[in-house]
Amino acid sequence: MLAHRFGPTHRDVPVIGQGTWNLERASRKEAVAALRRGLDLGMTHIDTAEMYGSGEAEGYVGEAIAGRRDEVFLVSKVLPHNASKRGTIKACEQSLKRLKVERLDCYLLHWRESIPLTETIAAFEELERAGKIRSWGVSNFDVADLEDALAIAGPGRIACNQVLYHLQQRGIEHAVLPWCERHGVAVVGYTPFGSRFPGPSGAGGRVLAEIAAAHGATLRQVALAFLVRRPSLFAIPKSSRAAHTEENAGAGALRLGEAELARVDAAFPRGAAPRTLPTS
Ligand code: NAP
Repeated sequence: MLAHRFGPTHRDVPVIGQGTWNLERASRKEAVAALRRGLDLGMTHIDTAEMYGSGEAEGYVGEAIAGRRDEVFLVSKVLPHNASKRGTIKACEQSLKRLKVERLDCYLLHWRESIPLTETIAAFEELERAGKIRSWGVSNFDVADLEDALAIAGPGRIACNQVLYHLQQRGIEHAVLPWCERHGVAVVGYTPFGSRFPGPSGAGGRVLAEIAAAHGATLRQVALAFLVRRPSLFAIPKSSRAAHTEENAGAGALRLGEAELARVDAAFPRGAAPRTLPTS
């Protein structure tokens, strides 16, 4: 499994991780088995949040990583309405309890709302000093939000920005991705399959299918490989079935050549710069 350096953290993190939004809708046994299969295959970056199933997804993750904590790069998120200084610290402690761990590898602000960023960042720094998190980052931050966070925290503090990124929504490539690369911030792409993954009969899907056939791979594996083609990029597909997890893990070993990357780029053009950061 290919790994990239995760922003300023000095940690190498697998490019393909495991998301957990709506994981609690699947049977606990099946979902936990899928997460464990993912760990076996090197998908050790697990992304969760207090929001997911109101904490239930964190419970699933806690069960899946029991006895294997040291293998995992564990990420959770605080909801914006909890993101005051005291609220963030309390939310983190509750996440740790549900996950049955002592520490998170990275803790994110899920998205920005009205609570001042200074409070959230002060809490993140305190949590890091206390050893409850190893690093912190943000999610759904546009360039202006990133500038604000950088001005408060200083350079080398923001580990990642988790944002929407898939073949049919490449809006971050205009400004957010270049900003993050300039400032050494990892970019974690969520919803990598989009709302409707391209089938093999459409024009774009045919390109994916031809490239997939040349590698003995699948269309989704080609899509994921494209989405992590730069050293700043990570993807966190969610799967609640071991068979899906195995397919997604396979993308971590797939290297596309320059000509193949150019074909995917042309088949799924990045389009015009979005006015606001896309989130769905
Ligand atoms: P996604 O990973 O693009 O897609 C998940 C869907 O794809 C599920 O229905 C899953 O089905 C299916 N799937 C997964 N692998 C498959 C495969 N190999 N073949 C066929 N179907 C497959 O969407 P997402 O869950 O929205 O995004 C991924 C993760 O990003 C989330 O789980 C969450 O951790 C994170 N996220 C973060 C934010 C944020 O605001 N920061 C927002 C959205 C998502 P099964 O479950 O049946 O396997």
